[in-house]
Amino acid sequence: MSIQYTDFIHPADKAAIEQLQSIPAFSSCVKMFLKVRFEQIQYGINLAEKIRLGPDQLPHIYNHIQKICDCFGIGVPEVYLEQNLELNAYAFGETRPSVTIQSGLVAALDEDELVAVLAHECGHIVCHHNLYRTMADYLASAGSGFLGPLASLATAPVQIALQYWIRRSELSADRAAAVFLRGPDAVVKTMIRLAGGPKAITEKVDVDVYLKQADDYDKLQEATWDKLLQTCAISKSDHPFLAVRAREILKWCQTDQFRRLVQALEENELSPKCPVCGRTLHGHWKFCSSCGAPNPNLNEQKQPTIAI
Ligand SMILES: [Zn+2]
Ligand SMILES: [Zn+2]
Repeated sequence: MSIQYTDFIHPADKAAIEQLQSIPAFSSCVKMFLKVRFEQIQYGINLAEKIRLGPDQLPHIYNHIQKICDCFGIGVPEVYLEQNLELNAYAFGETRPSVTIQSGLVAALDEDELVAVLAHECGHIVCHHNLYRTMADYLASAGSGFLGPLASLATAPVQIALQYWIRRSELSADRAAAVFLRGPDAVVKTMIRLAGGPKAITEKVDVDVYLKQADDYDKLQEATWDKLLQTCAISKSDHPFLAVRAREILKWCQTDQFRRLVQALEENELSPKCPVCGRTLHGHWKFCSSCGAPNPNLNEQKQPTIAI
């Protein structure tokens, strides 16, 4: 059993993506964007400019990824380390997904926070966010050059709706991280590091006081919502939004939906595993559904009992 995106997707993410897809010009933008073969372009950039991680390359970072992917039933993406002092990470690609984590972030985070970041990025892959998110990134930097025609097709309503959705897509990815980690603590600590810097500086941040920023941010939105929407559409800064995300994930982790998911994961952990590939075995199946190895538990049960 693995967690599906429908188990945890944030309603605001779902609503915003439906709104985005309902804009007539949007599907033309996506079609044009797909023609660019952006994944191939990015793959070359990744190989040329970053360090590809693996079991033999910085395994202390890489080795977390398999367990996260097993939890969500996805293939393992390529994972890259990028030299950049900004505290950032991102997932890229729909058919050939990759996760890039920047050196500034690795240096700033504890291990559980690093896992939260990797699980968050895998959350974007699970939710199939990457195509639209990548398109938004390219659009933001495509005033001229080979994506110029795309930029002209992507009218203001498309760009604003894309940016509006991107903020909401973060909420679903945060949920993925909290589910994998069975709680919100590392996710919230990560928000605080992203907002204020490495642990050495932010360790003593008062979480409750920080969360109050989210309430103040809400009040600001009520007053000048349209203005803020415009600002969000052009701004790369999402620091105020981090407080909202922290408050949101803490709230969600109190719900029955979250508790049920964690319970399902724990039951899954206790269920028998394939001795060859390590995936969960279906009790009644003769062979492992992942690698085809015989189910030893079933074979044991099927041993004829010898009457004495
Ligand atoms: Zn994200
Ligand atoms: Zn197996």
